[in-house]
Amino acid sequence: MDAAKYIWMNGKFVNWDDAKVHVLSHTLHYGNGVIEGTKAYKTAKGYAIFRLNDHTKRLKESAKMTLIDIPYSIEEMNQAQIELVRKNEFTGDNVYIRPFAFLGYGIMGLFHKGAPVETIMSAWEWGAYLGEEGMKSGIKLKIASMTRPANTSNMGKAKAAANYLNSQMAKYEAVDCGYDEALLLDDQGYVAEASGASFFMVVEGKLVTPPTDNTLVSITQKTVIEIAQDMGIEVERRRITREEIYIADEAFLTGTAAEITPVRIVDAREIGSGSRGPITEQLQSTYFDIVFGRNAKYEHYLTYID
Ligand code: PMP
Repeated sequence: MDAAKYIWMNGKFVNWDDAKVHVLSHTLHYGNGVIEGTKAYKTAKGYAIFRLNDHTKRLKESAKMTLIDIPYSIEEMNQAQIELVRKNEFTGDNVYIRPFAFLGYGIMGLFHKGAPVETIMSAWEWGAYLGEEGMKSGIKLKIASMTRPANTSNMGKAKAAANYLNSQMAKYEAVDCGYDEALLLDDQGYVAEASGASFFMVVEGKLVTPPTDNTLVSITQKTVIEIAQDMGIEVERRRITREEIYIADEAFLTGTAAEITPVRIVDAREIGSGSRGPITEQLQSTYFDIVFGRNAKYEHYLTYID
């Protein structure tokens, strides 16, 4: 990864190399910590963070679900991220922001009440999550052998560090088999989400994406639905089975890091023409216009860093 200059740690900026924790920090052992993934883009008017408040609010909500009491308000954490992007003096087009609240050192054993809550905001320059080539030509997606954990035994709506063990195993399997990314089904066999992104397909000009029954409540998915509806594209939210994907006209993944990444192959089947489809391309270019501040209608989603 590309190091930056400063990390905001419990209210203070510290040098990148000094943002350290004890090896007996609670979250390192048991995985109860919550993250966000937010992006800032270099617009003509300087850096702008996309949907900042929505991301910070989700961090607070994930923490509430997992019984972590973050001692900062949404507003304080928004300000910390604005200051962080400013102070790091980035130069590239793409900055990824990673807020993280976790349980620090002092308590062992599973009962975590009383463990100190550490809050950090970090940011670094990070380009296309699934590669520049993938953005143009599409990626290869594999349906993973593992499913998303059932809602009866997990909190998939918390963006919790622990949930990413499932994502990590699925991703490894997909890459090891020669694919770029993993798609996970839910415990009923319906499409849930990719290891770190949401799923969309195009069928006869209509967009189809699953409900959030067993997924993170994605911010980009909502943005893409809004963009599509504004363009007059019909959007259907319903359960999807794997064989429907194989015969779809187009497919793509969405997420803060994945942005809009076309899918060209799923489980050895070419999707549509086997390259980026026309509706995917249209949505992708509109999305980039929005995040780079070139679409006045969506300016309200941008927080400019002056
Ligand atoms: N699902 C999972 C499991 C993710 O990690 C992400 C990335 N945060 C998404 C979906 C997409 O969410 P968002 O659009 O809010 O980034």
